[in-house]
Amino acid sequence: MPQSKIPSFETLKALEAAPAMFLVLSVDFYILTASDLFLQATNSNRENIIGKYIFDAFSDNPSIKVADGENNILASLKYVVAHGKTHLMSVQRYDIVDSNHPDKFIVRYWEPTHTPIFTEDGELFYIIQSVNNVTEQILSRLDAEQSRDDNQANLQQVDALNKNLASAHDELIALNISLESDVINRTEELLASERKYRNVIEHSPVAMQVFRGKDMTFEIVNDAMLQFLGKTSDIIGKSLFEGVPEIVGQPIVEALYGVYNTGKPLEIYAEKVDLVRDGVKTVGYYDVIYRALYDHDQVAGVLGIAIDVTPQVLARQTIVESEARFRNMAEKSDILISLIDDKGQLEYLNNAWYILTGWSDSNLQTFNWENYLHPDDHADIMQRFFKVFEKQQDFVNEFRLLDSDGNYRWIRLRGTTRFNTEGDFIGYICSGIDITDEKQHFLEIEYINKALVHANDQLVNANLRLIDSEERLLTAFDAGELGSCTLDLKTGKADMSVRYRKQYGLPLEDDISWEMVLEAVEPEFLDEVNTVLHHAIEFGTPVDSTYAIKHLITGERRWMRVVGKVYQDEEGINERVNAVVMDVTGQKEDEQRKNDFIAMVSHELKTPLTSIKGYIQLLQHKTKNIAAFDGHSFVDKIQIQVKKMNTMINGFLNISRLESGKIQLNKSNFDLCALANDLKNEYEALITTHQIVYSPCSEFWVHADEDKISLVINNLLSNAVKYSPTNSKIYLQCEKVNQQVVLSVRDAGTGISSDDIPKLFDRYYRVQNEKTNIISGFGIGLYLSAEIIERHGGKIWVESELGTGSTFYFSI
Ligand code: ADP
Repeated sequence: MPQSKIPSFETLKALEAAPAMFLVLSVDFYILTASDLFLQATNSNRENIIGKYIFDAFSDNPSIKVADGENNILASLKYVVAHGKTHLMSVQRYDIVDSNHPDKFIVRYWEPTHTPIFTEDGELFYIIQSVNNVTEQILSRLDAEQSRDDNQANLQQVDALNKNLASAHDELIALNISLESDVINRTEELLASERKYRNVIEHSPVAMQVFRGKDMTFEIVNDAMLQFLGKTSDIIGKSLFEGVPEIVGQPIVEALYGVYNTGKPLEIYAEKVDLVRDGVKTVGYYDVIYRALYDHDQVAGVLGIAIDVTPQVLARQTIVESEARFRNMAEKSDILISLIDDKGQLEYLNNAWYILTGWSDSNLQTFNWENYLHPDDHADIMQRFFKVFEKQQDFVNEFRLLDSDGNYRWIRLRGTTRFNTEGDFIGYICSGIDITDEKQHFLEIEYINKALVHANDQLVNANLRLIDSEERLLTAFDAGELGSCTLDLKTGKADMSVRYRKQYGLPLEDDISWEMVLEAVEPEFLDEVNTVLHHAIEFGTPVDSTYAIKHLITGERRWMRVVGKVYQDEEGINERVNAVVMDVTGQKEDEQRKNDFIAMVSHELKTPLTSIKGYIQLLQHKTKNIAAFDGHSFVDKIQIQVKKMNTMINGFLNISRLESGKIQLNKSNFDLCALANDLKNEYEALITTHQIVYSPCSEFWVHADEDKISLVINNLLSNAVKYSPTNSKIYLQCEKVNQQVVLSVRDAGTGISSDDIPKLFDRYYRVQNEKTNIISGFGIGLYLSAEIIERHGGKIWVESELGTGSTFYFSI
C-alpha cells in the first residue's frame, strides 16, 4: 500500500458509486479504488485491483507487438504529478482481459484523463483517472478506413483489368481472323485424316472394324476382320446383328455395348466367339480391343481390333488337357512318377509316392527329398544327380529311400529330361519302381553265386586232384601195364583204354563192342568168361577171371586177368562194369614152368633113388655070400648118386633161401684161379665124355663166398657138358681185366638164340627146342648163378651163336 496520504474510506466509497468510469490512484500510482462502471467496463473486480500498482493490475495485451498504452499513461500520470495539472490523453488502445478466457484480451480503445486532486493545503492528494470507452467509434472508424482502402485497391484492379481487356479485345480480333483460316485448314485436315484413318484400318493386317450408332452399324470392316467373321463386305452398312446374326447373345456383344455406353476403353483376352464361316459353325478365341469413338463429346461409335489367338488357346488347352490326362494317369499309376524342375526341386509327386513314402504334394518347394536317402547312398547319388543335371542328361539310378514305415526300400529311378517349346531345359520327368524284392533276390542270387563259385572252386580242386590221381592211376596202369575197360551193361558198349586195345589187338580208335572182345577169347574160355559176365550183370558179382586170348593181330596166345566191379544206377540197377585188365602171360608161363619143374624134380629125384634102391638090393643079395664080395664099387656108385641128389636138393634149398631173402654170403679171401683149377680137377675125375681145357692165370685173390662162387663155376661147367656134344672140348679160362678177374666157360655146343638170351637167367627158364627138350634140367642153375654174382657186386653174361657154341662169363 502506498505510504502517501490517501483520502478517507467514506470519500472513496462515495466515489465508487459515481456514474462515471474512473480509477482513484495514489500519487505513486497505486489503485485506491475504482468506480463500479469502471469495473464493469474493464471486466475487473474491486478486491483484485485495490492496493495494486496500476500497471500490475492492468497490463498491456502481450499479443500486440507495439502496445504502448502503458508507457503513454505512465507519462501522462508523471506529467500530472509534476505539473499538478489535468492531462487529457489521446485515444489509447488498452485491451482488457476476457473474463471468460483469462488468457485472452478484448480490443478496447479509451480516452483517459488524469486529474490531480489536491488537499486543502494544496498538496497532491490523489489522482483520478477517468476513461471513456471509445472502442466502437474507433473500430467503426477503422472499418471505414479499411473499406476505403479496399475500394481504392479494387479500383486499381479494375483499371488494370480494363487495360487487359482492351488488349485482349485486340488479340481476340486478331485471333478471330486467324481462326477463320484455321477452321478451313482444320476441316481439310480432318477430311484427309479421316481418309487416312479409313485407309489405315482397311489395309491393316490386323483385323479392325468401326461400328457407328446404337445399332452398331458396320462402318468400316477390313479384310482381316471379314475373314475372322467369315463374311463379305456386304455387311458394311448393316447392323451387327444383321451382319453377324450368330453373335446375338454372346458375351462379346455385352462388352461392345459396355464400351459404347460408358466410353471406357476395354481389352479382353482369349475371348471365345462362335462364328459361322461358310455355313460352318466355328469356335475361335480372340484378343479384342474396343475404343469408343466420339462425335462432339458424345460416343458415336466403337473401334474394334481383334487378334486371333485360337491356335495358342487350343495349344494351351491341349497342354492343360494333356497335363490333366498326365496327372490323372500318374495318380492312378502304381509307378512312382515325379516331376523335377530345372533347379532340382520336386514339382510333382503322384499318389504312388505318397503310398510308399508318405510324402505329400503340399510343401514340395521346401521339401528336401535327399534327407530320406540311405546314408550309404547319399554322397554317391547326390554326386550323380548333380552331374546329370549339369549335363542335362537322362539318368537311371538305384538307391535306398526311407519309406513311411521307417524301412529303407530300394528304388530304381529313371529320369528323362524335359524341354519346353523353346527348347529350354525345364527339368526331369521321373519314373521309379520299388526293386527291393528284386534286390533281395539279386543279393540272394549273388550269395548263392558266391557259394556256387566257392563250390565250383572246390570242385575244380577236387577235379584237379581227380585228374592228378587219374594221371597217377594211369601212370600206375602204365607202370603195371594195366588196361582199363568200362562195359555198359545196358548197351553192351565197351569203352577201353589204348593199352587194353593193344593187349587184345583191337582197333586203337572207334567204338568197340563186347562181341569184338569175345572174338579174341580162346574158345575153351568162352563159357567161363560169359558166366562171369552173366553173374556180374545179374547179381552184381565182382569180376575176377583169368583166361587165354588169341591176339587179334599177331595170333599170339596171351593170358589175361580181368578184375572189375559192378556199379549201379540211381535205381539200383546194375549199370556198368569198371574193370582192370592185365597181361598175366608171364606169370602163367612161370606157373607152368613151376609145374613142369615139380614134375621134373619128382622124376629126377626118382632116378637116383631108383639107382640107390637097386644097388642096395644088389648089396643085400650079394652080402648073402659075403665071403668073396667086394662091395667097394657099389658104395662108390651110391656115393655118386647121393651126391647128385645132395647137389639137387642144395640147389632147391638155395632158391628157396634166395627168394625168402635168407641167403647169406660167407665171404673170405681166396684165390679164384686156384679154386677154378681145383674144380677142373674134380670134374676131370667125374666125367669122361668131355675134355676140359684150363687156361689159368696167376693167382687172383678175391673176397667172396667161396662155396657159392664154386657153385656158379660148377653150374657153368655142368651146362657146358650138358649142352655140347660128347668128346667136344670145354675151355675154362681165368684172366685179369682192369683190376677184375673174368672167368669164362666156353663150349662148342648147341648155342642159344638171341631171342632166348635175355630170358636165360630167369627163374625156371629153359630154352624150348628139340635138342634141349631131351636134356633134363630145372631152369634154376643160371638164375641162381646170376643172383650169386650180382650179390657179390659182379656181372654175369653170355655170348652165343646158335649151332656154334656158347661162352658164359662172370666177373667179380
Ligand atoms: P638147366 O637145368 O635146364 O640146365 P639152367 O638154368 O642151368 O637150367 O640153364 C637154363 C637153360 O639154358 C637150359 O635149359 C638151356 O636150354 C640153356 N643153356 C644153359 N647152358 C647152356 C649151354 N652151355 N649151351 C646151350 N644152352 C645152354
